[in-house]
Amino acid sequence: MKLKQFGNSFEEVSAIGQGCMGVGGYLATDASTDEHYIKMLRLGIHSGMTFIDTAEVYGNGHSEEVVGKAIKGIRHKVFIATKFSPENNSYDNVIRAAERSLSRLQVEYIDLYQIHWPNPQVPIEDTLSAMEKLVKDGKIRHIGLSNFSCKDLKNAIGISKQKIASIQMEYNLLDRSIEKEILPYCEQNKISVIAYSPLNQGRANYSEPQVKVLKELSFKYEKTVSQILLKWIISNNNVIAIPKATSEKHVKENADACNFTLTKEDFEQISKVFAYNPVLISTEKIRVIQDGQGNRQAYSTVEEAIANKLGFVPSPEELSKEILNDDMIKPIRVKQSTDSSGRYSYDLIEGRIRYWAWVIAYGNTKCIPALVCD
Ligand code: NAP
Repeated sequence: MKLKQFGNSFEEVSAIGQGCMGVGGYLATDASTDEHYIKMLRLGIHSGMTFIDTAEVYGNGHSEEVVGKAIKGIRHKVFIATKFSPENNSYDNVIRAAERSLSRLQVEYIDLYQIHWPNPQVPIEDTLSAMEKLVKDGKIRHIGLSNFSCKDLKNAIGISKQKIASIQMEYNLLDRSIEKEILPYCEQNKISVIAYSPLNQGRANYSEPQVKVLKELSFKYEKTVSQILLKWIISNNNVIAIPKATSEKHVKENADACNFTLTKEDFEQISKVFAYNPVLISTEKIRVIQDGQGNRQAYSTVEEAIANKLGFVPSPEELSKEILNDDMIKPIRVKQSTDSSGRYSYDLIEGRIRYWAWVIAYGNTKCIPALVCD
């Protein structure tokens, strides 16, 4: 396994790790597959994927419990990264959330503790000062962020007395939005970028030319398409990928994705065919469909989004303020609409909170950045 320097520390971590969203359940606990995941996580660790990413929200805490069981007796071999939810960003809640995570993971310390999402209702100073206290007390070793804009990352760096070691962001060949600001900034400042959903959550909705290139390279290197995708991601210097895998085949493949070198020409060929081109689409032309995003409920009207009864943090209204502040937020994802009335051109498949944030910010007067998926 290829190792990479973590942040600007002297420590090295595996360039490919193991994501644990869905291990022990997604939002609710599901203990029915514990034994299987314990086996798969151990297989991954023995294959070199010693960086393990979980969160208190995954499986409502059960993901951390499964990870705790998987690392029993081999704690010294792994690098445990977990996250606390934005509802817990206040000073006291961070301390309490860390204690709960330590207990579920059954470990003395967490290697990387991450703010899962910013919470505009809680001053970042409070959150960071709790994390600094946890470092001082030896309960966590590194501080990380997740889902922060570049502006908020820079602000956090200016405030934190401890080094910010990493930022976890979505990064795959279809969503390359971090390349504009976050990736170059992190490279310059020795902050590790942890690429989440590196396999686009297993959705291979690629165009014909993209499939052609991936298939040709898969044949040339005798590697699977997923291995080519992972290799492309970690070819960026300070990027670590954390795919989530359920099957033995996928775990082995992911660990083995480091073991070849993409030539510069092939790396560039992939970059070119996956050129990142969000388009601007009027919000009026986008239909909000309910089955857009797995098991997450969302809102159907702007009034519902403003009321935010489901308690999303940040709320659509808070996100709308970031949009008005010119803070970059990720494009939504749409596909050609199946609507027969002719009113809509696209159906929304991902980013319903962001969609309503744009509508709250500008009414229906604005065209918004979107990725059109096949
Ligand atoms: P992902 O890793 O991009 O994709 C997972 C999907 O890819 C699964 O369906 C999996 O199938 C499939 N897969 C894995 N290895 C494969 C292979 N070698 N060949 C073909 N298919 C393969 O998506 P993700 O779970 O969203 O992201 C990974 C991790 O990032 C999460 O588990 C979590 O730790 C983290 N994450 C963080 C955030 C955040 O807000 N910070 C958000 C999302 C995710 P099988 O399961 O059947 O193997």
